[in-house]
Amino acid sequence: MSGGAEWTVEVERAVCVGNKMCVAVAPDVFEMAEGKSRARTARVRPSESVVDAYESCPVSAIVVRDETGEEIESGI
Ligand code: SF4
Repeated sequence: MSGGAEWTVEVERAVCVGNKMCVAVAPDVFEMAEGKSRARTARVRPSESVVDAYESCPVSAIVVRDETGEEIESGI
């Protein structure tokens, strides 16, 4: 993974079903608020835990974009 790259992370709260999977996988990135997840910070360092959280969401409510603005794909 490259050094200074950052990803942006968003949770589509209208889609989130609040099962807390992302919070369990990446508590430094996601937190629960009013029964749904939200990103603690819009920008994160690329990490496997972010990818794992992204992949663990059953309703694909998590949107992660790389530094070019492209949505990441699983299996990075
Ligand atoms: S894993 Fe998806 S549905 Fe579950 S709390 Fe996180 S964003 Fe919401």
